[in-house]
Amino acid sequence: MKGLAQIIGKRWSSLSIAKKLYVVVGIMAFLIAGELLILEFSMTTLSAVRAFVGGEGLWSKAQKDSAISLLRYELTRDEQDFQAFLDALKIPEGDHLARISLEKPVPDRESARQGFLAGNIHPDDIDPMIDLILRFSNVSYLKRAIAAWTEADLVLSEFKAAANEYRRLLHEPNPDREKIRSVRATLSTLNERLTELETQFSDELGAGSRWMEGVIISLLFLAVLAVECIGLTLTFLTSRSISRRLENISDTAKAIGEGDFTRRAVADSNDEIGRVALAVNQMGGLLEHSYADLNRRVEERTRELANAVKSRDEFLSIASHELKTPLTALQLQLQALRLLISANGEGPAVSPQKLQGLIDTSEKRIRKLSELIDMLLDISRIEGGKLKLELTEVNLTDAVKDVLALFSEQIAQAKCVLSCEIDENVRGHWDRFRLEQVITNLLSNALKYGASKPIEIKLTRESGDAVLRVRDHGIGVRPEDKLRIFNRFERCASSQNFSGLGLGLYISKQILDLHGGQIDVDSGSGHGSTFTVKLPLREPGDEKGASA
Ligand code: ADP
Repeated sequence: MKGLAQIIGKRWSSLSIAKKLYVVVGIMAFLIAGELLILEFSMTTLSAVRAFVGGEGLWSKAQKDSAISLLRYELTRDEQDFQAFLDALKIPEGDHLARISLEKPVPDRESARQGFLAGNIHPDDIDPMIDLILRFSNVSYLKRAIAAWTEADLVLSEFKAAANEYRRLLHEPNPDREKIRSVRATLSTLNERLTELETQFSDELGAGSRWMEGVIISLLFLAVLAVECIGLTLTFLTSRSISRRLENISDTAKAIGEGDFTRRAVADSNDEIGRVALAVNQMGGLLEHSYADLNRRVEERTRELANAVKSRDEFLSIASHELKTPLTALQLQLQALRLLISANGEGPAVSPQKLQGLIDTSEKRIRKLSELIDMLLDISRIEGGKLKLELTEVNLTDAVKDVLALFSEQIAQAKCVLSCEIDENVRGHWDRFRLEQVITNLLSNALKYGASKPIEIKLTRESGDAVLRVRDHGIGVRPEDKLRIFNRFERCASSQNFSGLGLGLYISKQILDLHGGQIDVDSGSGHGSTFTVKLPLREPGDEKGASA
Protein backbone atom coordinates (compact mmCIF):
# COMPACT_ATOMS: atom_id res chain seq x y z
CA MET A 1 0.00 0.00 0.00
CA LYS A 2 2.85 2.32 1.00
CA GLY A 3 4.72 1.30 -2.16
CA LEU A 4 1.69 2.11 -4.30
CA ALA A 5 1.35 5.53 -2.63
CA GLN A 6 5.03 6.17 -3.34
CA ILE A 7 4.65 5.18 -7.00
CA ILE A 8 1.59 7.44 -7.35
CA GLY A 9 3.47 10.27 -5.58
CA LYS A 10 6.41 9.87 -7.97
CA ARG A 11 4.20 9.78 -11.06
CA TRP A 12 2.26 12.77 -9.75
CA SER A 13 5.40 14.84 -9.14
CA SER A 14 6.68 14.07 -12.63
CA LEU A 15 3.53 15.54 -14.21
CA SER A 16 3.52 19.10 -15.52
CA ILE A 17 1.23 21.60 -13.78
CA ALA A 18 -1.06 21.66 -16.83
CA LYS A 19 -1.38 17.86 -16.68
CA LYS A 20 -2.03 17.96 -12.92
CA LEU A 21 -4.88 20.39 -13.56
CA TYR A 22 -6.19 18.13 -16.33
CA VAL A 23 -6.13 15.19 -13.91
CA VAL A 24 -8.04 17.18 -11.25
CA VAL A 25 -10.62 18.36 -13.79
CA GLY A 26 -10.75 14.82 -15.28
CA ILE A 27 -11.50 13.28 -11.87
CA MET A 28 -14.20 15.91 -11.31
CA ALA A 29 -15.70 15.18 -14.75
CA PHE A 30 -15.62 11.45 -14.01
CA LEU A 31 -17.41 11.97 -10.68
CA ILE A 32 -20.01 14.22 -12.28
CA ALA A 33 -20.55 11.60 -15.01
CA GLY A 34 -21.09 9.03 -12.21
CA GLU A 35 -23.54 11.40 -10.57
CA LEU A 36 -25.43 11.76 -13.86
CA LEU A 37 -25.56 7.96 -14.23
CA ILE A 38 -27.04 7.66 -10.75
CA LEU A 39 -29.58 10.33 -11.68
CA GLU A 40 -30.45 8.56 -14.92
CA PHE A 41 -30.81 5.25 -13.08
CA SER A 42 -33.03 6.92 -10.46
CA MET A 43 -35.22 8.53 -13.08
CA THR A 44 -35.64 5.23 -14.94
CA THR A 45 -36.45 3.36 -11.74
CA LEU A 46 -38.99 5.95 -10.60
CA SER A 47 -40.53 6.01 -14.05
CA ALA A 48 -40.80 2.17 -13.89
CA VAL A 49 -42.57 2.45 -10.51
CA ARG A 50 -44.93 5.03 -12.03
CA ALA A 51 -45.59 2.65 -14.98
CA PHE A 52 -46.37 -0.16 -12.53
CA VAL A 53 -48.84 2.06 -10.71
CA GLY A 54 -50.42 2.88 -14.10
CA GLY A 55 -50.37 -0.83 -15.02
CA GLU A 56 -52.07 -1.69 -11.76
CA GLY A 57 -54.76 0.89 -12.61
CA LEU A 58 -55.36 -0.78 -15.98
CA TRP A 59 -55.38 -4.20 -14.32
CA SER A 60 -58.00 -3.11 -11.73
CA LYS A 61 -60.10 -1.33 -14.33
CA ALA A 62 -60.08 -4.45 -16.57
CA GLN A 63 -61.00 -6.66 -13.65
CA LYS A 64 -63.87 -4.31 -12.76
CA ASP A 65 -64.95 -4.16 -16.44
CA SER A 66 -64.98 -7.95 -16.57
CA ALA A 67 -67.16 -8.07 -13.45
CA ILE A 68 -69.60 -5.55 -14.96
CA SER A 69 -69.71 -7.41 -18.30
CA LEU A 70 -70.52 -10.63 -16.41
CA LEU A 71 -73.27 -8.85 -14.50
CA ARG A 72 -74.70 -7.56 -17.78
CA TYR A 73 -74.50 -11.07 -19.26
CA GLU A 74 -76.52 -12.38 -16.35
CA LEU A 75 -79.34 -9.98 -17.26
CA THR A 76 -79.14 -10.08 -21.07
CA ARG A 77 -77.79 -13.61 -21.66
CA ASP A 78 -76.14 -11.93 -24.66
CA GLU A 79 -72.97 -13.78 -25.70
CA GLN A 80 -71.43 -10.47 -26.71
CA ASP A 81 -71.45 -9.46 -23.07
CA PHE A 82 -69.71 -12.68 -22.09
CA GLN A 83 -67.17 -12.05 -24.84
CA ALA A 84 -66.64 -8.53 -23.39
CA PHE A 85 -66.04 -10.26 -20.03
CA LEU A 86 -63.38 -12.49 -21.62
CA ASP A 87 -61.82 -9.55 -23.51
CA ALA A 88 -61.54 -7.49 -20.34
CA LEU A 89 -59.63 -10.35 -18.69
CA LYS A 90 -57.01 -10.25 -21.46
CA ILE A 91 -55.26 -7.33 -19.71
CA PRO A 92 -54.62 -9.10 -16.36
CA GLU A 93 -53.75 -12.28 -18.31
CA GLY A 94 -51.12 -10.36 -20.32
CA ASP A 95 -49.63 -9.04 -17.11
CA HIS A 96 -49.71 -12.59 -15.73
CA LEU A 97 -47.73 -13.82 -18.76
CA ALA A 98 -45.18 -11.06 -18.22
CA ARG A 99 -44.75 -11.92 -14.55
CA ILE A 100 -44.26 -15.66 -15.01
CA SER A 101 -41.84 -15.04 -17.95
CA LEU A 102 -39.69 -12.95 -15.61
CA GLU A 103 -39.91 -15.41 -12.73
CA LYS A 104 -38.37 -18.17 -14.82
CA PRO A 105 -34.83 -19.27 -13.82
CA VAL A 106 -33.70 -17.62 -17.08
CA PRO A 107 -36.03 -14.63 -17.44
CA ASP A 108 -37.64 -14.37 -20.90
CA ARG A 109 -37.67 -10.66 -21.66
CA GLU A 110 -39.36 -11.03 -25.06
CA SER A 111 -42.27 -13.06 -23.71
CA ALA A 112 -42.57 -10.59 -20.82
CA ARG A 113 -42.65 -7.75 -23.34
CA GLN A 114 -45.51 -9.45 -25.25
CA GLY A 115 -47.35 -9.94 -21.95
CA PHE A 116 -47.03 -6.28 -20.97
CA LEU A 117 -48.11 -5.20 -24.46
CA ALA A 118 -51.21 -7.34 -24.03
CA GLY A 119 -51.65 -5.67 -20.64
CA ASN A 120 -51.87 -2.32 -22.47
CA ILE A 121 -48.60 -1.03 -21.03
CA HIS A 122 -46.99 1.73 -23.09
CA PRO A 123 -44.08 0.20 -25.09
CA ASP A 124 -41.60 2.84 -23.74
CA ASP A 125 -42.40 1.80 -20.18
CA ILE A 126 -41.93 -1.92 -20.70
CA ASP A 127 -38.13 -2.17 -20.50
CA PRO A 128 -37.84 -0.06 -17.29
CA MET A 129 -40.61 -2.23 -15.75
CA ILE A 130 -38.80 -5.45 -16.67
CA ASP A 131 -35.53 -4.03 -15.26
CA LEU A 132 -37.29 -3.00 -12.06
CA ILE A 133 -38.64 -6.51 -11.48
CA LEU A 134 -35.34 -8.19 -12.31
CA ARG A 135 -33.25 -5.81 -10.16
CA PHE A 136 -35.47 -5.22 -7.16
CA SER A 137 -37.68 -8.33 -6.89
CA ASN A 138 -35.89 -9.11 -3.62
CA VAL A 139 -36.61 -5.71 -2.09
CA SER A 140 -39.32 -6.33 0.55
CA TYR A 141 -41.82 -3.82 -0.84
CA LEU A 142 -41.64 -5.20 -4.36
CA LYS A 143 -41.55 -8.75 -3.04
CA ARG A 144 -44.84 -8.16 -1.18
CA ALA A 145 -46.38 -6.37 -4.16
CA ILE A 146 -45.45 -9.28 -6.46
CA ALA A 147 -46.86 -11.73 -3.92
CA ALA A 148 -50.16 -9.78 -3.99
CA TRP A 149 -50.03 -9.79 -7.80
CA THR A 150 -49.39 -13.58 -7.86
CA GLU A 151 -52.29 -14.20 -5.52
CA ALA A 152 -54.49 -11.85 -7.56
CA ASP A 153 -53.64 -13.85 -10.70
CA LEU A 154 -54.71 -17.06 -8.95
CA VAL A 155 -57.91 -15.48 -7.69
CA LEU A 156 -58.54 -14.09 -11.16
CA SER A 157 -58.20 -17.54 -12.75
CA GLU A 158 -60.68 -18.86 -10.14
CA PHE A 159 -62.92 -15.88 -10.98
CA LYS A 160 -62.75 -16.79 -14.68
CA ALA A 161 -63.47 -20.48 -13.98
CA ALA A 162 -66.45 -19.52 -11.76
CA ALA A 163 -67.71 -17.20 -14.54
CA ASN A 164 -67.55 -20.02 -17.07
CA GLU A 165 -69.41 -22.30 -14.63
CA TYR A 166 -71.96 -19.54 -14.09
CA ARG A 167 -72.51 -19.24 -17.87
CA ARG A 168 -72.87 -23.00 -18.19
CA LEU A 169 -75.48 -23.09 -15.40
CA LEU A 170 -77.43 -20.22 -16.96
CA HIS A 171 -77.60 -22.06 -20.26
CA GLU A 172 -78.93 -25.31 -18.78
CA PRO A 173 -82.56 -26.20 -19.81
CA ASN A 174 -83.54 -26.40 -16.12
CA PRO A 175 -81.15 -24.09 -14.32
CA ASP A 176 -80.45 -25.11 -10.76
CA ARG A 177 -81.31 -21.95 -8.84
CA GLU A 178 -79.43 -23.03 -5.79
CA LYS A 179 -76.19 -23.71 -7.68
CA ILE A 180 -76.50 -20.44 -9.54
CA ARG A 181 -76.82 -18.54 -6.30
CA SER A 182 -73.83 -20.37 -4.88
CA VAL A 183 -71.64 -19.57 -7.95
CA ARG A 184 -72.78 -15.95 -7.88
CA ALA A 185 -71.78 -15.78 -4.21
CA THR A 186 -68.36 -17.24 -5.07
CA LEU A 187 -67.96 -14.71 -7.87
CA SER A 188 -68.80 -11.90 -5.50
CA THR A 189 -66.32 -13.14 -2.85
CA LEU A 190 -63.58 -13.50 -5.46
CA ASN A 191 -64.34 -10.03 -6.77
CA GLU A 192 -63.97 -8.56 -3.28
CA ARG A 193 -60.77 -10.49 -2.69
CA LEU A 194 -59.42 -9.14 -5.95
CA THR A 195 -60.24 -5.59 -4.84
CA GLU A 196 -58.34 -6.22 -1.58
CA LEU A 197 -55.34 -7.60 -3.44
CA GLU A 198 -55.35 -4.65 -5.86
CA THR A 199 -55.31 -2.25 -2.90
CA GLN A 200 -52.54 -4.27 -1.26
CA PHE A 201 -50.52 -4.23 -4.48
CA SER A 202 -50.81 -0.46 -4.93
CA ASP A 203 -50.09 0.18 -1.21
CA GLU A 204 -46.90 -1.91 -1.34
CA LEU A 205 -45.89 -0.24 -4.61
CA GLY A 206 -46.55 3.21 -3.11
CA ALA A 207 -44.49 2.38 0.00
CA GLY A 208 -41.74 0.94 -2.22
CA SER A 209 -41.81 4.03 -4.38
CA ARG A 210 -41.45 6.31 -1.32
CA TRP A 211 -38.62 4.12 -0.05
CA MET A 212 -36.93 4.25 -3.41
CA GLU A 213 -37.29 8.04 -3.59
CA GLY A 214 -35.59 8.27 -0.18
CA VAL A 215 -32.80 5.95 -1.31
CA ILE A 216 -32.34 7.91 -4.53
CA ILE A 217 -32.30 11.30 -2.78
CA SER A 218 -29.72 9.94 -0.30
CA LEU A 219 -27.63 8.46 -3.10
CA LEU A 220 -27.73 11.71 -5.04
CA PHE A 221 -26.89 13.72 -1.93
CA LEU A 222 -23.93 11.42 -1.22
CA ALA A 223 -22.77 11.62 -4.83
CA VAL A 224 -22.94 15.43 -4.85
CA LEU A 225 -21.17 15.53 -1.49
CA ALA A 226 -18.45 13.19 -2.78
CA VAL A 227 -17.95 15.29 -5.94
CA GLU A 228 -17.74 18.51 -3.93
CA CYS A 229 -15.43 17.06 -1.27
CA ILE A 230 -13.10 15.31 -3.70
CA GLY A 231 -13.01 18.36 -6.00
CA LEU A 232 -12.32 20.75 -3.13
CA THR A 233 -9.69 18.44 -1.60
CA LEU A 234 -7.87 17.96 -4.89
CA THR A 235 -7.97 21.69 -5.66
CA PHE A 236 -6.79 22.54 -2.15
CA LEU A 237 -3.95 19.98 -2.19
CA THR A 238 -2.77 20.99 -5.66
CA SER A 239 -2.90 24.72 -5.02
CA ARG A 240 -1.26 24.35 -1.58
CA SER A 241 1.55 22.25 -3.05
CA ILE A 242 2.06 24.82 -5.87
CA SER A 243 2.09 27.82 -3.51
CA ARG A 244 4.39 26.07 -0.96
CA ARG A 245 6.90 25.16 -3.63
CA LEU A 246 6.76 28.68 -5.12
CA GLU A 247 7.34 30.13 -1.65
CA ASN A 248 10.31 27.81 -1.19
CA ILE A 249 11.79 29.00 -4.52
CA SER A 250 11.17 32.64 -3.67
CA ASP A 251 12.80 32.22 -0.20
CA THR A 252 15.77 30.46 -1.79
CA ALA A 253 16.19 33.15 -4.46
CA LYS A 254 16.01 35.80 -1.72
CA ALA A 255 18.58 33.99 0.43
CA ILE A 256 20.91 33.58 -2.57
CA GLY A 257 20.41 37.26 -3.39
CA GLU A 258 21.45 38.10 0.17
CA GLY A 259 24.66 36.12 -0.22
CA ASP A 260 23.76 32.64 1.11
CA PHE A 261 25.05 30.80 -1.97
CA THR A 262 24.81 27.38 -0.30
CA ARG A 263 20.99 27.62 -0.08
CA ARG A 264 19.10 25.36 -2.52
CA ALA A 265 15.42 25.10 -3.44
CA VAL A 266 13.56 21.76 -3.18
CA ALA A 267 13.58 20.37 -6.73
CA ASP A 268 11.88 16.99 -6.27
CA SER A 269 9.48 17.12 -9.22
CA ASN A 270 9.80 17.31 -12.98
CA ASP A 271 7.03 19.83 -13.54
CA GLU A 272 7.45 23.52 -14.41
CA ILE A 273 8.03 24.51 -10.76
CA GLY A 274 10.60 21.73 -10.38
CA ARG A 275 12.40 23.09 -13.44
CA VAL A 276 12.33 26.66 -12.05
CA ALA A 277 13.73 25.30 -8.74
CA LEU A 278 16.52 23.56 -10.67
CA ALA A 279 17.29 26.78 -12.58
CA VAL A 280 17.42 28.74 -9.29
CA ASN A 281 19.73 26.08 -7.82
CA GLN A 282 21.96 26.23 -10.88
CA MET A 283 21.99 30.01 -10.62
CA GLY A 284 22.99 29.64 -6.95
CA GLY A 285 25.78 27.25 -7.96
CA LEU A 286 27.00 29.61 -10.66
CA LEU A 287 26.85 32.57 -8.30
CA GLU A 288 28.72 30.60 -5.65
CA HIS A 289 31.35 29.73 -8.21
CA SER A 290 31.53 33.29 -9.59
CA TYR A 291 31.67 34.73 -6.09
CA ALA A 292 34.54 32.41 -5.15
CA ASP A 293 36.25 33.32 -8.43
CA LEU A 294 35.69 37.01 -7.78
CA ASN A 295 37.07 36.65 -4.26
CA ARG A 296 40.11 34.87 -5.62
CA ARG A 297 40.61 37.59 -8.24
CA VAL A 298 40.16 40.32 -5.67
CA GLU A 299 42.76 38.61 -3.48
CA GLU A 300 45.09 38.27 -6.47
CA ARG A 301 44.52 41.88 -7.44
CA THR A 302 45.07 42.98 -3.84
CA ARG A 303 48.32 41.04 -3.82
CA GLU A 304 49.32 42.60 -7.15
CA LEU A 305 48.44 46.04 -5.86
CA ALA A 306 50.40 45.43 -2.66
CA ASN A 307 53.34 44.29 -4.81
CA ALA A 308 52.92 47.34 -7.03
CA VAL A 309 52.91 49.59 -3.98
CA LYS A 310 55.99 47.78 -2.71
CA SER A 311 57.69 48.12 -6.11
CA ARG A 312 56.74 51.79 -6.22
CA ASP A 313 58.17 52.35 -2.72
CA GLU A 314 61.33 50.50 -3.69
CA PHE A 315 61.46 52.52 -6.88
CA LEU A 316 61.08 55.78 -4.97
CA SER A 317 63.87 54.88 -2.60
CA ILE A 318 66.11 53.71 -5.47
CA ALA A 319 65.17 56.73 -7.60
CA SER A 320 65.94 59.15 -4.81
CA HIS A 321 69.22 57.35 -4.22
CA GLU A 322 70.03 57.39 -7.95
CA LEU A 323 69.19 61.07 -8.20
CA LYS A 324 70.99 61.94 -4.99
CA THR A 325 74.27 60.23 -5.91
CA PRO A 326 75.13 62.37 -8.97
CA LEU A 327 73.79 65.45 -7.18
CA THR A 328 76.08 64.86 -4.19
CA ALA A 329 79.00 64.25 -6.51
CA LEU A 330 78.13 67.42 -8.40
CA GLN A 331 77.94 69.36 -5.18
CA LEU A 332 81.39 68.07 -4.18
CA GLN A 333 82.77 69.06 -7.57
CA LEU A 334 81.36 72.55 -7.20
CA GLN A 335 82.70 72.88 -3.63
CA ALA A 336 86.14 71.84 -4.91
CA LEU A 337 85.89 74.45 -7.65
CA ARG A 338 84.87 77.14 -5.15
CA LEU A 339 87.87 76.28 -2.95
CA LEU A 340 90.22 76.47 -5.88
CA ILE A 341 88.76 79.82 -6.98
CA SER A 342 88.90 81.36 -3.46
CA ALA A 343 92.47 80.06 -3.02
CA ASN A 344 93.49 81.44 -6.42
CA GLY A 345 96.36 83.91 -6.16
CA GLU A 346 97.24 82.84 -2.63
CA GLY A 347 97.70 79.15 -2.98
CA PRO A 348 99.41 77.21 -5.71
CA ALA A 349 98.15 78.07 -9.24
CA VAL A 350 95.37 75.86 -10.64
CA SER A 351 96.18 74.41 -13.97
CA PRO A 352 93.59 74.88 -16.75
CA GLN A 353 93.72 71.05 -17.26
CA LYS A 354 92.62 70.47 -13.68
CA LEU A 355 89.81 73.00 -14.06
CA GLN A 356 88.80 71.36 -17.35
CA GLY A 357 88.78 67.94 -15.66
CA LEU A 358 86.50 69.19 -12.86
CA ILE A 359 84.10 70.77 -15.34
CA ASP A 360 84.04 67.56 -17.46
CA THR A 361 83.19 65.45 -14.44
CA SER A 362 80.47 67.92 -13.43
CA GLU A 363 79.01 67.77 -16.94
CA LYS A 364 79.01 63.96 -16.75
CA ARG A 365 77.06 64.07 -13.50
CA ILE A 366 74.59 66.52 -15.02
CA ARG A 367 74.20 64.23 -18.06
CA LYS A 368 73.55 61.29 -15.76
CA LEU A 369 70.94 63.32 -13.88
CA SER A 370 69.36 64.43 -17.11
CA GLU A 371 69.23 60.78 -18.33
CA LEU A 372 67.49 59.71 -15.14
CA ILE A 373 64.97 62.52 -15.40
CA ASP A 374 64.38 61.66 -19.09
CA MET A 375 63.65 58.07 -18.07
CA LEU A 376 61.14 59.22 -15.50
CA LEU A 377 59.51 61.46 -18.09
CA ASP A 378 59.35 58.54 -20.53
CA ILE A 379 57.68 56.38 -17.90
CA SER A 380 55.03 59.01 -17.29
CA ARG A 381 54.55 59.34 -21.09
CA ILE A 382 54.19 55.55 -21.47
CA GLU A 383 51.73 55.35 -18.58
CA GLY A 384 49.67 58.17 -20.11
CA GLY A 385 49.84 56.54 -23.56
CA LYS A 386 51.65 59.63 -24.81
CA LEU A 387 54.88 58.09 -25.97
CA LYS A 388 54.85 58.94 -29.70
CA LEU A 389 57.34 58.00 -32.39
CA GLU A 390 58.75 60.44 -34.91
CA LEU A 391 59.30 58.18 -37.84
CA THR A 392 61.88 59.07 -40.47
CA GLU A 393 64.23 57.22 -42.78
CA VAL A 394 66.86 55.88 -40.35
CA ASN A 395 70.20 54.24 -41.00
CA LEU A 396 70.48 51.90 -38.03
CA THR A 397 74.12 51.16 -38.83
CA ASP A 398 74.97 54.84 -38.28
CA ALA A 399 72.91 54.98 -35.10
CA VAL A 400 74.72 51.96 -33.61
CA LYS A 401 78.11 53.39 -34.57
CA ASP A 402 77.27 56.79 -33.07
CA VAL A 403 76.22 55.25 -29.75
CA LEU A 404 79.38 53.11 -29.69
CA ALA A 405 81.45 56.22 -30.32
CA LEU A 406 79.76 58.03 -27.43
CA PHE A 407 80.46 55.02 -25.17
CA SER A 408 84.12 54.63 -26.16
CA GLU A 409 85.39 56.18 -22.94
CA GLN A 410 83.03 54.12 -20.73
CA ILE A 411 83.98 50.95 -22.59
CA ALA A 412 87.58 51.66 -21.90
CA GLN A 413 86.84 52.42 -18.24
CA ALA A 414 84.90 49.15 -17.86
CA LYS A 415 87.88 47.34 -19.37
CA CYS A 416 85.66 45.57 -21.86
CA VAL A 417 86.89 44.33 -25.17
CA LEU A 418 84.33 45.20 -27.79
CA SER A 419 83.94 43.27 -31.02
CA CYS A 420 81.48 44.38 -33.67
CA GLU A 421 79.96 42.76 -36.72
CA ILE A 422 77.80 45.42 -38.27
CA ASP A 423 76.12 45.23 -41.67
CA GLU A 424 76.26 48.47 -43.62
CA ASN A 425 73.23 50.59 -44.43
CA VAL A 426 70.59 48.79 -42.40
CA ARG A 427 67.80 51.22 -43.08
CA GLY A 428 64.19 51.45 -42.02
CA HIS A 429 61.36 53.79 -41.24
CA TRP A 430 61.91 54.29 -37.51
CA ASP A 431 62.39 56.85 -34.72
CA ARG A 432 66.16 57.29 -34.55
CA PHE A 433 66.22 59.05 -31.18
CA ARG A 434 64.18 56.26 -29.54
CA LEU A 435 66.24 53.48 -31.15
CA GLU A 436 69.44 55.15 -29.90
CA GLN A 437 67.84 55.07 -26.47
CA VAL A 438 67.34 51.27 -26.83
CA ILE A 439 70.94 50.72 -28.05
CA THR A 440 72.29 52.92 -25.22
CA ASN A 441 70.34 50.97 -22.63
CA LEU A 442 71.52 47.57 -23.91
CA LEU A 443 75.14 48.73 -24.15
CA SER A 444 75.17 50.38 -20.72
CA ASN A 445 73.62 47.21 -19.20
CA ALA A 446 76.25 45.05 -20.90
CA LEU A 447 78.96 47.31 -19.46
CA LYS A 448 77.30 47.38 -16.04
CA TYR A 449 76.52 43.67 -15.66
CA GLY A 450 79.41 42.35 -17.74
CA ALA A 451 82.28 44.69 -16.75
CA SER A 452 85.82 43.60 -17.70
CA LYS A 453 84.43 40.88 -19.96
CA PRO A 454 84.17 40.95 -23.72
CA ILE A 455 81.13 42.42 -25.40
CA GLU A 456 79.96 41.51 -28.89
CA ILE A 457 77.72 43.71 -31.02
CA LYS A 458 76.12 42.34 -34.13
CA LEU A 459 73.77 44.10 -36.57
CA THR A 460 72.35 42.05 -39.45
CA ARG A 461 69.35 41.68 -41.73
CA GLU A 462 67.44 38.48 -41.15
CA SER A 463 64.20 37.46 -42.94
CA GLY A 464 62.84 40.95 -43.35
CA ASP A 465 64.03 42.21 -39.97
CA ALA A 466 66.92 44.31 -38.78
CA VAL A 467 68.44 42.27 -35.95
CA LEU A 468 70.70 43.75 -33.29
CA ARG A 469 72.41 41.44 -30.79
CA VAL A 470 74.27 42.71 -27.75
CA ARG A 471 76.14 39.90 -26.02
CA ASP A 472 78.08 40.14 -22.79
CA HIS A 473 79.71 37.54 -20.54
CA GLY A 474 78.59 38.98 -17.23
CA ILE A 475 76.28 37.81 -14.45
CA GLY A 476 73.53 36.68 -16.84
CA VAL A 477 69.79 36.43 -16.19
CA ARG A 478 68.15 33.43 -14.45
CA PRO A 479 65.56 31.64 -16.64
CA GLU A 480 62.74 32.51 -14.19
CA ASP A 481 63.61 36.23 -14.48
CA LYS A 482 63.73 36.38 -18.28
CA LEU A 483 60.22 37.74 -18.74
CA ARG A 484 60.08 39.77 -15.55
CA ILE A 485 63.04 42.04 -16.36
CA PHE A 486 61.03 43.67 -19.16
CA ASN A 487 58.42 44.87 -16.64
CA ARG A 488 58.40 48.18 -14.82
CA PHE A 489 60.68 48.54 -11.78
CA GLU A 490 61.76 44.90 -12.02
CA ARG A 491 65.35 44.35 -11.03
CA CYS A 492 67.15 41.06 -10.45
CA ALA A 493 70.61 42.32 -9.66
CA SER A 494 71.48 43.49 -6.15
CA SER A 495 71.09 47.24 -5.58
CA GLN A 496 74.31 47.35 -3.58
CA ASN A 497 76.42 46.10 -6.44
CA PHE A 498 74.54 47.50 -9.38
CA SER A 499 72.81 50.89 -9.52
CA GLY A 500 69.68 51.30 -11.65
CA LEU A 501 65.94 52.00 -11.62
CA GLY A 502 64.68 48.86 -13.34
CA LEU A 503 63.19 50.98 -16.13
CA GLY A 504 65.64 50.74 -19.05
CA LEU A 505 64.43 47.40 -20.47
CA TYR A 506 60.78 48.33 -19.84
CA ILE A 507 61.12 51.56 -21.81
CA SER A 508 63.09 49.72 -24.55
CA LYS A 509 60.33 47.13 -24.89
CA GLN A 510 57.65 49.83 -25.15
CA ILE A 511 59.64 51.61 -27.86
CA LEU A 512 60.11 48.37 -29.82
CA ASP A 513 56.42 47.44 -29.44
CA LEU A 514 55.51 50.81 -30.96
CA HIS A 515 57.82 50.00 -33.89
CA GLY A 516 56.17 46.57 -34.34
CA GLY A 517 59.46 44.97 -33.24
CA GLN A 518 60.45 42.82 -30.28
CA ILE A 519 63.15 42.23 -27.71
CA ASP A 520 64.14 39.12 -25.78
CA VAL A 521 67.03 37.70 -23.86
CA ASP A 522 68.89 34.45 -24.12
CA SER A 523 70.86 33.76 -21.02
CA GLY A 524 71.79 31.58 -18.13
CA SER A 525 72.90 32.68 -14.70
CA GLY A 526 76.66 33.36 -14.78
CA HIS A 527 76.93 32.66 -18.48
CA GLY A 528 76.35 36.17 -19.74
CA SER A 529 73.37 37.29 -21.74
CA THR A 530 72.47 38.02 -25.31
CA PHE A 531 69.77 40.64 -25.85
CA THR A 532 68.21 40.41 -29.32
CA VAL A 533 66.25 43.26 -30.85
CA LYS A 534 64.19 42.70 -34.01
CA LEU A 535 62.82 45.57 -36.07
CA PRO A 536 60.73 45.07 -39.18
CA LEU A 537 62.47 46.49 -42.24
CA ARG A 538 59.15 46.96 -44.02
CA GLU A 539 56.48 49.33 -42.96
CA PRO A 540 53.03 47.72 -42.78
CA GLY A 541 51.62 47.65 -46.36
CA ASP A 542 55.04 48.39 -47.89
CA GLU A 543 55.47 45.44 -50.25
CA LYS A 544 58.75 46.57 -51.77
CA GLY A 545 60.44 46.73 -48.39
CA ALA A 546 62.69 49.22 -46.75
CA SER A 547 65.94 50.30 -48.40
CA ALA A 548 68.84 47.91 -48.19
P1 ADP B 1 68.45 48.62 -14.42
O1 ADP B 1 69.58 48.08 -15.17
O2 ADP B 1 68.44 50.08 -14.30
O3 ADP B 1 68.16 47.90 -13.18
P2 ADP B 1 66.93 47.59 -16.63
O4 ADP B 1 65.50 47.71 -16.96
O5 ADP B 1 67.86 48.05 -17.69
O6 ADP B 1 67.14 48.36 -15.28
O7 ADP B 1 67.23 46.12 -16.32
C1 ADP B 1 66.34 45.39 -15.50
C2 ADP B 1 67.09 44.26 -14.82
O8 ADP B 1 67.50 43.28 -15.79
C3 ADP B 1 68.37 44.67 -14.17
O9 ADP B 1 68.15 45.13 -12.86
C4 ADP B 1 69.13 43.38 -14.19
O10 ADP B 1 68.81 42.58 -13.10
C5 ADP B 1 68.74 42.70 -15.47
N1 ADP B 1 69.65 42.93 -16.59
C6 ADP B 1 69.55 43.83 -17.56
N2 ADP B 1 70.54 43.71 -18.45
C7 ADP B 1 71.34 42.72 -17.98
C8 ADP B 1 72.55 42.09 -18.45
N3 ADP B 1 73.19 42.51 -19.55
N4 ADP B 1 73.08 41.09 -17.72
C9 ADP B 1 72.46 40.66 -16.59
N5 ADP B 1 71.31 41.18 -16.10
C10 ADP B 1 70.74 42.20 -16.80
